[in-house]
Amino acid sequence: MRVLHSIAEMKEERRKLRGTVGFVPTMGYLHEGHLELVRVARAENQHVVVSIFVNPTQFGPKEDYASYPRDTERDLAMLKKEKVGIVFMPGAEDMYPARYSTWVDVEKVSERLEGAVRPGHFRGVATVVAKLFNIVEPTKAYFGQKDAQQLVVVKKMVTDLNMNLEVITVPTVREPDGLAMSSRNVYLSPQERKSALVLYKALTLAQTLWDKGQTNADLIRREMTALIESEPRVAGIDYVSIADAETLEELPRIDRSALVSLAVKIGKPRLIDNIILAS
Ligand code: AMP
Repeated sequence: MRVLHSIAEMKEERRKLRGTVGFVPTMGYLHEGHLELVRVARAENQHVVVSIFVNPTQFGPKEDYASYPRDTERDLAMLKKEKVGIVFMPGAEDMYPARYSTWVDVEKVSERLEGAVRPGHFRGVATVVAKLFNIVEPTKAYFGQKDAQQLVVVKKMVTDLNMNLEVITVPTVREPDGLAMSSRNVYLSPQERKSALVLYKALTLAQTLWDKGQTNADLIRREMTALIESEPRVAGIDYVSIADAETLEELPRIDRSALVSLAVKIGKPRLIDNIILAS
């Protein structure tokens, strides 16, 4: 496994690769969710490149960029076990040198849900992903359904900018009790860890109501919200959304594929999760 720290080295190594390249962009502090992306990439490509880069431009000024969990040694050991060929770990000064000034703005789908609560977040995401795609030149890039809106934004960017790669969606990997795996789960106290399950419970409730024939999105949102609010350590709900899975516009009635998504603060940590209700 080669660990490359500069953009120049990565480009140089890329030139030497023949055949298909699967790419998994991450911010590190890896868990089984990330490894699932790596395994799918491994199965579908001759080479696998994983990037680890905590991207400063997708964090708001009051967010957790400085305290985002990092453990490079552990990450590299995990990736070695998965037989990854190249790990790309650029420095922030290499990615954003002085006087850096170019940004990718995916309008509309970036403005809702996470984008409404975290202004500028998806501008940072789209920009870094576009840069990484240009550096790594993957055949296919792998993203988790866990970050559903990120997938919508990245897919739209790839289509709109005629980028030469395929974006692959990998289903959300969960803990045995249903909690979606996330690097931020380490912030949860044991008590909060128990309360965090309410996100999955609310999504399961939506699925059950839908399975029983309920199509009134307002009613499902209300039931989900009531369930979440009944959980003691919930410190705030940013959104409970049932939206068109493609445009992310809120639906009054579920008459097409719907993304049911939510963002909830459990104590200090802020968790997100989602499911798709396929019409
Ligand atoms: P991150 O390191 O949080 O930026 O995540 C890197 C990639 O891993 C993104 O495409 C995420 O959607 C994906 N990912 C994170 N958690 C999970 C999970 N529990 N299941 C599947 N994919 C995930």
